[in-house]
Amino acid sequence: MRVLIVEDEQRIANALGRMMEDCKYACDVTYDGLDGYLYAESGIYDVIVLDIMLPRMSGIEIVKRLRSKKISTPVLMLTAKSETEDKVKGLDSGADDYMTKPFSKEELLARVRALARRQGDVILDELTFEDITLNLSSYTLNRGEKSIHLGLKEFEILKILMSNPKGITQKEDLITKVWGYDSDAEDNNVEVYISFIRKKLNFLGTKVVISTARKIGYYLEVAT
Ligand code: CA
Repeated sequence: MRVLIVEDEQRIANALGRMMEDCKYACDVTYDGLDGYLYAESGIYDVIVLDIMLPRMSGIEIVKRLRSKKISTPVLMLTAKSETEDKVKGLDSGADDYMTKPFSKEELLARVRALARRQGDVILDELTFEDITLNLSSYTLNRGEKSIHLGLKEFEILKILMSNPKGITQKEDLITKVWGYDSDAEDNNVEVYISFIRKKLNFLGTKVVISTARKIGYYLEVAT
């Protein structure tokens, strides 16, 4: 799961970022409204946590613009206690939920998870392809009795490949979804992690392999 945090109070923004990382969610943090909008517009996030009062573009304006561009990523809006009116405006503009600052960590995480489920992404607990099963809560890859733990990036990559079992996943898509919109990760990074995953597939003794579509990307198939 990938979460975007847009909050100009850096202390809060960074704390939120750490919370997401503790939950093993991939997370991008920005302190600026316009940057936040540009990130969000990529459509790669499962949930956006959005402050209202932001430099360069307000949270309300961000949601309005996203919705007008048919980007339906669930938005959790953060409001200060004194901004009751903004709360109403925020929901009117297309936000899905709001929380008043200060908030409890547990409650915020529960809301984020609920919004992500609404999106339909994390409702599944596992993904299966042929004889391998990826457990989405324990980050393990299983085949019969054998099981192996995946690192965060390995997990994210394999999850994307297994979610698209019949097609080729573009390398660029993997970079954006796993490393983030603003990342300087390169093809090499992807290749390194693909080779880690291949070793783990080998360890499990499955015939499922990650094949390379030259210059395009990767796909899963059963080796004959
Ligand atoms: Ca603010």
